[in-house]
Amino acid sequence: MTTAIQNCERCESPLETGDLRCSICGQASPADRPHAETLTIQILRCKGCGAATAYDIEHQAPSCTFCDSVVEVETVDDPMEQSEGYLPFTTGQDEARKAMRHWLSSLGWFRPSDLTTSARLEQLKPLWWVGWVFDAESEVSWAADSNAGSRRSAWAPHSGQVNMTFDDILVSASRGLSQSEVSAIGPGCDLGSIRDQPEGAQNATIEQFDLQRSQARQQIIAAIQNIAAARVEQNEIPGTSFRKTSVSVVLRKLITRRISLPAWVLAYRYKGRLYRMVISGQDASYVTGTAPYSIAKIIFVALCAVVAFLAFFAVVAAR
Ligand SMILES: [Zn+2]
Ligand SMILES: [Zn+2]
Repeated sequence: MTTAIQNCERCESPLETGDLRCSICGQASPADRPHAETLTIQILRCKGCGAATAYDIEHQAPSCTFCDSVVEVETVDDPMEQSEGYLPFTTGQDEARKAMRHWLSSLGWFRPSDLTTSARLEQLKPLWWVGWVFDAESEVSWAADSNAGSRRSAWAPHSGQVNMTFDDILVSASRGLSQSEVSAIGPGCDLGSIRDQPEGAQNATIEQFDLQRSQARQQIIAAIQNIAAARVEQNEIPGTSFRKTSVSVVLRKLITRRISLPAWVLAYRYKGRLYRMVISGQDASYVTGTAPYSIAKIIFVALCAVVAFLAFFAVVAAR
């Protein structure tokens, strides 16, 4: 079934099937809109981290790719968000392995000297994680206290209005990857390379969107407000220090795409402990993860500092 996409008459945001009102400005939808089909799908839900992944009878994962906890089949019969497209993997397993060695060797002197040579790769899995990409126009009203023009008191009130455009802003919808992991690898993705089907990796874990559309919009709007506040703090507020920034955003033409993005999730073992890394599936130079510190080296530096302090004290006292 093909449904023509209709836009809101007032703010030009696309309306989704089943919307009685525009979710952005509240304008009533035209009465002749088609009703939402009731959709039932099965997903695998992790009992540890809550991530939802695609259920696949052939390659049913016994444990969660993200945290190794038990997964359960769950039937969801609300119309959830579904991915509209997939960015393909353009890096392979070998590049992911190389990126792991390179990253471990780049961490600096406070890490164990044998980290790169002794780390053993335990698991390397391709994953499509989920995110929203949006474009929007907006009018942002802001208010803040700043030190500009404050004369004798510490703060003076300022406010203003500014038009902002948002272009290809990526917001994580992933439960399996943390916000910091997504911030580290997200910029490695080429949003223009979208495909209809997963491409470039076999037996991948496919994460599912698992929010209701209304919840998803709340998250997107919260992200827009954070970005708008950051831009206001950077570009709009006069003075050198400020506090109490508040923004109110009126959106127009909010267009959201739901996409799946490729990443390599790997686990390596060092001296009996497991550590996790995540690498962009499109550019292996975007890497993040956890790694051990060398306690011996940290104690050595702390002792050197104590010795230097005592020596200084002795010189001063001897005068
Ligand atoms: Zn509207
Ligand atoms: Zn999990």
